[in-house]
Amino acid sequence: MAQRLAGKIAIVTGAASGIGRAICQRYANEGAGVMLVDRNLGRLEKVRKSLNTDFGNKHFITEGSVGQIEFTSKVFDQVKENYGKCGNVLVNCAGITRDTLLINMTEKQFDDVIQINLKGIFTMTKSFIGTLRQTGGMASASIINISSIVGKVGNAGQANYAASKAGAIGFTKSTGIEMGRYGIRCNAVLPGFIKTPMTDTVPEDIMKKYLKLIPQKRLGTPEEVANVCLFLASDESSYVNCATLEVTGGFMA
Ligand code: NAP
Repeated sequence: MAQRLAGKIAIVTGAASGIGRAICQRYANEGAGVMLVDRNLGRLEKVRKSLNTDFGNKHFITEGSVGQIEFTSKVFDQVKENYGKCGNVLVNCAGITRDTLLINMTEKQFDDVIQINLKGIFTMTKSFIGTLRQTGGMASASIINISSIVGKVGNAGQANYAASKAGAIGFTKSTGIEMGRYGIRCNAVLPGFIKTPMTDTVPEDIMKKYLKLIPQKRLGTPEEVANVCLFLASDESSYVNCATLEVTGGFMA
């Protein structure tokens, strides 16, 4: 069977862990060259090594923090340097939580989450579109923002996170509206509760409460989110734009 991302270049943030890492593996397995972006160099190196061993020597890393435009524009310079062309797919997956009830939430906890989860999507997307423009006409592309079901339904202890993820949905729709005419699609994925280091910190009693609200009665896996991201990156989703896709096992808040 033909590889679904053959010849494509994908840039994935948050690539060193959890959902981002699973997306990189899925994309590489389907023939894409992957530029892995994360702030954790040690883990990034490990993921690159395993991709290059398993799927050919065409995967690269850039270490730094999304949310800083100076860094994100360098990411795309490196994409051009390494591949001789711009990317076709951008996945904004880097994210953090700083959970606490609103009454206790500090300005820093709020700002840090917005800076990475929301401004990080802005800086990466703006830099990406900038490089596509430099090619003298926009090349078609797919942008995928990893939001969260919490951005739609809210969650106690996550006012900062929910605001950042709701913002990501608004950003996605606006970008898709502005860029659709150029063949650039922008969609958001809303995972529910997925087994990664991010959810490993959730106390057991709270997780039990969440499980009662999930009809499939289990957490999702990073690979199950990556499968949806594969669809959105591939030409099979060529008429999907400004959409939000929930990957929650039917989570009912
Ligand atoms: P994860 O395992 O913690 O992976 C996130 C990765 O992003 C980590 O390697 C992290 O590095 C990196 N990162 C954080 N801030 C960064 C920055 N400023 N620049 C570059 N990289 C940065 O989390 P995950 O569960 O896979 O989450 C991935 C995305 O899915 C996030 O956007 C998250 O909000 C979203 N999501 C997750 C779930 C879930 O249940 N897991 C549900 C809905 C949505 P550090 O380890 O150094 O922070």
